[in-house]
Amino acid sequence: MSSPAKTVYIETFGCQMNLADTEVVLARLSEAGYQRVDAVADAGLVLYNTCAVRDHAEAKVRGRLGMLKGIKRKRPDLRIGIMGCMAQREKQALIEQFPHVDLVVGTDQFVRMPQLLAQLDAQDHVVATDFGDFEGTQWTATRRSGVNAWVPVMRGCNYNCTYCVVPFTRGKEKSRPPAQVEDEVRALVDQGFVQVTLLGQTVDAYGKTLGDGTNLASLLRRLHEIPGLKRIRFVTSHPKDISDELLDTMSELPRVAKHLHVPAQSGSDRQLRLMGRRYTRADYLRFVERARARMPGVEFLSDFIVGFPRESDEDFRDTASLMDQVRFDGAYVFMYSLRPGTPAANLADDVPTAVKNARCVELLDLQLKHQGEAYAKLHGRSVEVLVEGASKGDDGMLHGRSIGNLNIVFPRLDAAGASRDHLVGQLVQVRIERSTSLTLFGDLPESL
Ligand code: SAM
Ligand code: SF4
Repeated sequence: MSSPAKTVYIETFGCQMNLADTEVVLARLSEAGYQRVDAVADAGLVLYNTCAVRDHAEAKVRGRLGMLKGIKRKRPDLRIGIMGCMAQREKQALIEQFPHVDLVVGTDQFVRMPQLLAQLDAQDHVVATDFGDFEGTQWTATRRSGVNAWVPVMRGCNYNCTYCVVPFTRGKEKSRPPAQVEDEVRALVDQGFVQVTLLGQTVDAYGKTLGDGTNLASLLRRLHEIPGLKRIRFVTSHPKDISDELLDTMSELPRVAKHLHVPAQSGSDRQLRLMGRRYTRADYLRFVERARARMPGVEFLSDFIVGFPRESDEDFRDTASLMDQVRFDGAYVFMYSLRPGTPAANLADDVPTAVKNARCVELLDLQLKHQGEAYAKLHGRSVEVLVEGASKGDDGMLHGRSIGNLNIVFPRLDAAGASRDHLVGQLVQVRIERSTSLTLFGDLPESL
């Protein structure tokens, strides 16, 4: 068999942690002489970095693998690898289901990708899914240049929410040493990044496993000293781990985003108990009150799961009323997806799909109503925005975000027709003029 071309096509599914892992695997492959390509047809290696949080995410990958079957028949030297949470969850079973897959690489093993590929010279398949000491090493990452860099500061999760595969696919919580994170962020600023988003499944628990008193608040203080760094964000938080010290630190440090992605999941105590979330509705509301008292103007982004087993109309109404009470600044709403092997898989998935769908639509509508009302109140206000680049929906506009998480769009050309692209990566004042329930539109004062 001829040796496969050293070109890699990689597609990433799921969360920002996967995007960050993709950047690391690309760096490892580049060191081994691989070049990234944008089409399967040009690739000697096709990698899917997968998500296993919902069946829908896995179904997409199964679809891709089905399509690759014919291609592999025509090009037997094409190598196909699966990494990420689906690889970690299914392990050898993926090869049994898709024999044309060469490599199954777990969430702590992908840093060894070049060595694992080399093993394929002597073996038909390689399955590497052991958990290992990932945090001890400073891994380089190949990032596309831009404004924001994703920086994983911890991996894994020590919670065991009953619906969730993450504790199985990402293992136990492990934090990176703060000095290592600081070195990476300093290097990123030298490369031109002006914002970092610190990543962790429960990022507010950062430092616990280090056992030396380090926590997210102390890490934020350390990173805040780095000259040239304009914004620091972090996701995702668990409501139980947000301390007063963290809130006060966020409030005090001007370059730390006043934004918390802190999923509530449900507003019903019965459901929260079944989900193993370890807080009650009242605890969550107390947390929101505490955060607002210590950091006026803080924005909250939540996740909700609808149609979790046994969710009654009354449970669902409790979730809608929690939304009404808090008035979140943003929300993701997911229909419950049974994940084999999780504790909740022992409960019947008994909410009919049509009901899940209707509840999902109702919560999203409610969220959009809240957003629309909140945005309308901002008309005429001037907001400081870190400009991130061209707007996704309209190439003629630039977009950026407030120190919270408001997405604000303004014209790419000034009144005289000159490009404003030089503002990307800079902080500018934007006056808000109008809004939809999803986006705020404004302009720079010079054009008004
Ligand atoms: N670590 C974060 C946390 O604790 O909130 C998020 C982890 S998970 C990757 C992202 C979101 O997916 C969760 O907040 C939850 O709303 C949703 N999710 C997780 N498992 C799910 C499942 N089995 N079905 C539907 N949604 C799920
Ligand atoms: Fe999953 Fe719960 Fe851990 Fe979040 S806190 S990753 S939902 S187990």
